[in-house]
Amino acid sequence: MRENDFLKWIAEHTPVHSGVPLGIGDDMAAVLLGGTNPLALLKIDQCLDLVHFDLRKHSASQAGTKAVNRCLSDCAAMACSPAAIMISVALPNEGPGSGESFAQELFLACQAAAAKFNCPLVGGDTSIWDQRLAITVAALGAATSNKLITRSGAKPGDTIFVSGALGGSILGRHLSFSPRIELAKKILAAAGEKLHAMMDLSDGLAQDLPRLATASNVGAEIHTANLPIHEDAYTLSENDHIPAGLHALADGEDYELLFALDPEAVPNIVNLTDIPLTAIGTVTADKKLALVDETGKSHPWPNIGWQHKS
Ligand SMILES: [Mg+2]
Repeated sequence: MRENDFLKWIAEHTPVHSGVPLGIGDDMAAVLLGGTNPLALLKIDQCLDLVHFDLRKHSASQAGTKAVNRCLSDCAAMACSPAAIMISVALPNEGPGSGESFAQELFLACQAAAAKFNCPLVGGDTSIWDQRLAITVAALGAATSNKLITRSGAKPGDTIFVSGALGGSILGRHLSFSPRIELAKKILAAAGEKLHAMMDLSDGLAQDLPRLATASNVGAEIHTANLPIHEDAYTLSENDHIPAGLHALADGEDYELLFALDPEAVPNIVNLTDIPLTAIGTVTADKKLALVDETGKSHPWPNIGWQHKS
């Protein structure tokens, strides 16, 4: 299919959206941010064959869904509403990811993943080359609060929470996770100014918590007994004999929320949704990160973490 034909096909398969007065087909798209807050948040994220997915075993739909959801997970991290996404795709001219039907399936999967959050796909770019599939997704988010929810606001004494359960995402969750957008907005609505810092877990708690602590100029104590360990981590542990708790710390691509909350606000966020929120530790002033075991003994933060590979 020639590029013009594919672009025409995309335009025909793009539904009208009330937040998009000017969509695909012109030189730029126009998007209404909605709400009463004029603050726009921006994000761009790359997803590559053999790095973030593997087209020898994963479908166009899985690749497209993951590419969009990774970007939307950052919208969750900022507790914003995704107002629009754009996608740039470099399609291979042969092998996995080539061909018209693949490109169409990929587009429809991207559009459907965004539509779950009422987020329109308003444009993008396609080209064909002799390398593997590369998908780049950019998101425009509308802030839901006057205060930016960043990584840098954690304060000593804050309670550290994670959503869901961690570890073992390589068994399939890294392709099928759901960005915690609604949950993040509910946490912000319930905690207000007492939500001090938040991020999404993409590279594993062992790597991501130090990022939040460094940005906030604080330390943290995490209680290993409190870590919510996903059943996938136990499954993985049976095969590789690495403790499930270590998988929960080190495995990447959980796409759960990590946040620091004034302890006064903890009662406000109990039972917000059916997604569990677990207090795993406390922010400290001394800028050190420590793991505290069941006996109360403190251990240095593990220098482990996950590198993206499919
Ligand atoms: Mg992130």
